[in-house]
Amino acid sequence: MSTALPLVDPAPPASKRGRTPPPRHLADLDLAGRRAAVAALGEPEFRAGQVSHHYFGRLVRDPARMTDLSPASRERIAAELLPTLLTPVKELSCDGGTTRKTLWRLHDGARVESVLMGYRDRVTVCVSSQAGCGMGCPFCATGQAGLTRNLSTAEIVDQVVWFAGQAVDGLGPDVPSRLSHVVFMGMGEPLANYNRVLDAVRRLVAPAPEGLGLSQRHITVSTVGLVPAIERLAGEDLALTLALSLHAPDDDLRDELVPVNQRWKVAEVLQSAWNYAARTGRRVSIEYALIRDVNDQPWRADLLGRLLANKLAHVNLIPLNPTPGSRWDASPKSVEREFLRRVRSAGVPATVRDTRGREIDGACGQLAASENRPQLENRGLTRLGGRGKAEQ
Ligand code: SAH
Ligand code: SF4
Repeated sequence: MSTALPLVDPAPPASKRGRTPPPRHLADLDLAGRRAAVAALGEPEFRAGQVSHHYFGRLVRDPARMTDLSPASRERIAAELLPTLLTPVKELSCDGGTTRKTLWRLHDGARVESVLMGYRDRVTVCVSSQAGCGMGCPFCATGQAGLTRNLSTAEIVDQVVWFAGQAVDGLGPDVPSRLSHVVFMGMGEPLANYNRVLDAVRRLVAPAPEGLGLSQRHITVSTVGLVPAIERLAGEDLALTLALSLHAPDDDLRDELVPVNQRWKVAEVLQSAWNYAARTGRRVSIEYALIRDVNDQPWRADLLGRLLANKLAHVNLIPLNPTPGSRWDASPKSVEREFLRRVRSAGVPATVRDTRGREIDGACGQLAASENRPQLENRGLTRLGGRGKAEQ
């Protein structure tokens, strides 16, 4: 960590970022909005459907490949509705190419990242909703850097469309070619960017060509616990999966680990989760990062079990991914097993989260935070050459 890795493309100072909003993109608009936008360009309205079919149906992001449009129309539409929002700065893969991570540069130089995970039965992409995060959780790499800005709807959607294209090109012999799941567990607090995230979700679930046609249940919004926003989400006509990052069952510790707890306490945030479960019929996923000697004591497992017993909840234990320079570490496996056993013995379903992609800094914000660390080069990583195949 002593010497910095020279970057080909160093990030501009934070003061220069976020001054101009990202350019408008077709994924910012619903189909009616796209029709109006192409009409304003002097193009026939059906072009909106054509371009939407390319982008959402065929997962083609490059206007040059939209060959059924005349060169003149293509140029006009590309300039107004298909600006480049995401430029890959670094692409890493592991697990034989079934886990991939991309660090993006946004139009103003801000950095975000997304991760793709291919399994036998599903393909999941983990997306960022903000550049940085203002919630300040001390164990989280993203939280350390603070908030740069909210991502636009299209900046969120484009992360998914990019990886959906990679899935079609093939991730491995036993991995489906259709992207099926999206989790808002990358950088940022999705409910602090509520309107854009909800618009992005609407694009993801709308049937093609308006959107990607994903199942609502296959979209997980992970939140630190912004109670009014959870209540609002419960009132939408969407049955998304809600993940609540609890990390401590008692206010004393949660006030420290998740500073927003000083505003909305454990009892209040859990009540909003149960309201969400009641309104949507969806089991809430309770996220709990196990931190050695901090929140992994048997009594905290028992308290967690008591709080969640007989509720529509599932506990997801996450081995802490230590952030550079942090004093905290993951719990030993024996402690993790005992914690899991105690939660389960309260009748609460619980599992330990798959830690795929650890060697490519899979946790929230870790790649962006580690851009300057030379060790990254020494971990047997495969660098994916150039842009993804979906772009060629
Ligand atoms: N802001 C949202 C979503 C992004 S963070 C939230 O906090 O829920 C996604 C998940 O990664 C959260 O559960 C978060 O607590 C967890 N996380 C953050 N840093 C981590 C780390 N260093 N190790 C393990 N999990 C971490
Ligand atoms: Fe933000 Fe989530 Fe990280 Fe907390 S854990 S700082 S809410 S991204």
